[in-house]
Amino acid sequence: MRPLVAHIDLDALRHNYQLACRCAPQSRSVAVIKADAYGHGALECARALEADVPAFAVASIEEAISLREGGIKVPIVLLEGIFTADELALVDQYGFWISVHSEWQVTALLDFSPRQPIPVWLKVDSGMHRLGFSPEEAPGVWQRLVNAPQVTALHLMSHFATADAREGSYFNQQMAALTTLAEKLGAPLCLANSPATLAWPVAHGDWNRPGVMLYGSDPLEEANEITRQLRPVMSLRSEIIALRELDEGEPVGYGGRWQAPRRSKIAVVAAGYGDGYDRHAVDGTPVLVNGQRCAIAGKVSMDMLTVDVTDVPEVAIGSEVVLWGSASNGAVLSIDEVARYCDTISYTLLTGVLPRVPRHYNEAHV
Ligand SMILES: *Cc1c(COP(=O)(O)O)cnc(C)c1O
Repeated sequence: MRPLVAHIDLDALRHNYQLACRCAPQSRSVAVIKADAYGHGALECARALEADVPAFAVASIEEAISLREGGIKVPIVLLEGIFTADELALVDQYGFWISVHSEWQVTALLDFSPRQPIPVWLKVDSGMHRLGFSPEEAPGVWQRLVNAPQVTALHLMSHFATADAREGSYFNQQMAALTTLAEKLGAPLCLANSPATLAWPVAHGDWNRPGVMLYGSDPLEEANEITRQLRPVMSLRSEIIALRELDEGEPVGYGGRWQAPRRSKIAVVAAGYGDGYDRHAVDGTPVLVNGQRCAIAGKVSMDMLTVDVTDVPEVAIGSEVVLWGSASNGAVLSIDEVARYCDTISYTLLTGVLPRVPRHYNEAHV
C-alpha cells in the first residue's frame, strides 16, 4: 500500500478545544468544523468533541445535514445561513441555527412558519466588507427580528479582518463599532474567530467561533505562551520509496530547479500535489526524515517529492517522512512553518489534502 497517511489525533483536537475554552472562560465556544473540519473529517471530529461542545458551526446546510445524519445531536449553526429560501424547511426540520446577513434572508424568514422558533445570529459588517448589514442598517433589522415569532435567541455576529495581526488599529475600529451597536440594542455578541479568541479578550462574547486553532495551527502573526500549547491534530506522514547519490552539479526533478551543491543523497518520498501537498513549496521547505529536519530539493511532482538527506544517518527505503505534524520520535514540524515556505496559510494546506490520502484516527469508535 502507498505509505502516505494523514494521522488525525483526536486527543489533540480535544486539548486544543479546551485551550480555546480556557482562553475565554466567560464565553461558550462553537467548534467550527466547516470544510470537512478543515480537512480532518467533520463527522469524526464532531463525534470526538460532541460531549464537550455546546454547538458546531459549518458553512452550509449540506454540511449540517451530513452531521445530523451521522448522529450528531448538538445544535449546528449555518455560518452563512441559507442559500435559498426553501432551505428554511430543512433548517426547521433538523433544528439548525442560522446566521442572517442579507435582506432577502430576513424576508424569507419572516414569510416562513417554523414549527418552533429558530435561533438567529444577525450578521453585521463591522469592517470585513464581505457579509452582513452595515452598523446603520443593523438596528432596523434587529427590531424586525427580535420579537418575530419565527426567531429566538437573537445574537449579533460579526467577523474580524485583522485579528491575527499584532497591530490593532483596524481591529479596535471594528470593535468600537460593535460595542456601540451592542449597547444600543442590548444585544449578546458572537465575534471571536481563533485569533480573537487567543489574543483579544475584549472580543470575547456570549459565544466565540474558534476554527483553525482547534486543529493546532497558530493563527497569530506572533506566537504567544497560549499558542505554544496548541498540539497538531493532523500529521501527514509518508516514507522514502527510493534513494540515489548525485554528483555535484547534477539537477533533480522537473526543470532541474535544484542542483546538487556537493555530492548529495536524494530521497524520493511518496507525496505530491496530487495528494494536496503544495506545489509552491520552494527548495528548502522543511520535512522530517526519521524525525530530523531536512529540506525539499526540486519541484514537487504529482505523486512524489524529493528531499536532500545527505546529512541524515541511517536513511533507507521505508524511513519515515513527516510533511507536517509530529514524527514517531516526538519531533514536530509546524504546518504554519511549512505554509510560509509555500507562500500560503495552514488553512489551504489542511483543506487541500485530497480524498486519496487515507485519514487514520487514533480512536476505534470513530
Ligand atoms: C471560518 C470562520 C470562523 C473560524 O475562523 P478561524 O480563523 O479558523 O478561527 C469563524 N467565523 C466565521 C464566520 C467563519 O467563516
